Amino acid sequence: MSYIDPHIHMVSRTTDDYRRMAQAGCVAITEPAFWAGFDRCSVEGFRDYFRQLTQVEPARSARYGIAHHTWLCINPKEAEDAGFAREVMSIIPEFLDAPNVLGIGEIGLNKNSRNELQVLEAHLALAAAHDLLVLVHTPHLEDKLKGTMLIMDAVANAGLDPDRVLIDHVEEHTVGAVLDRGFWAGMTLYPDTKCTPQRAVDILERWGMNRIWMNSAGDWGDSDPLAVPKARMEMRRRRHSAESIRRITFDNPVAFLSRSGNFRIDA
Ligand SMILES: [Zn+2]
Repeated sequence: MSYIDPHIHMVSRTTDDYRRMAQAGCVAITEPAFWAGFDRCSVEGFRDYFRQLTQVEPARSARYGIAHHTWLCINPKEAEDAGFAREVMSIIPEFLDAPNVLGIGEIGLNKNSRNELQVLEAHLALAAAHDLLVLVHTPHLEDKLKGTMLIMDAVANAGLDPDRVLIDHVEEHTVGAVLDRGFWAGMTLYPDTKCTPQRAVDILERWGMNRIWMNSAGDWGDSDPLAVPKARMEMRRRRHSAESIRRITFDNPVAFLSRSGNFRIDA
């Protein structure tokens, strides 16, 4: 059964991961721009990163039959220097004609600071100006609910349609507010922090299967590029139908991502 991992950072993963994901049924991924684990010290560092996301990774994933898509931004962790962030944002339009770009992401908040909020607003304006989809990162733990509320207000203020915005890393205390306001919700499956597959399936059973998906957010830290097929096994174990499993791990991602004309899939 084919699946999509709609949030994974393949620049941090090996070709063995691509192979194992393909063997598990992965046919498409989307890769948001994120924090590399260290702060980049120049705009040129971001230009190289955006080239990697729009040229190198699509070629690498194609060798495993996986369609690669991406989202561009400067991530909230590096947005505390608003002047530098604006310089980075000024080069994003150079890459918007690349055939695998879906939108702006993963933007959002990290510490919910004033500077981060300004950079978030500038990204949302960029998305509005170019009619792009948006993928949003929400802060960790105790900052998550407040940050999620601030982000949803900022999206509304920017005049963007919540149906074209996915709020990622939702948990039990944020998913209801996200869905109630008409946004799409992403559950991130992590081995210890964020949602385990068991918690994610609990959330589905409580909140339903509309406008929600699951992703691995695999990166350079503790994470699992096979988290989505593992969560599918958990759904199967609890006797969810093949149709429901397909809906969460394939149909819902296709429905949201197809709002961009650049989303493509062979399966
Ligand atoms: Zn991420």
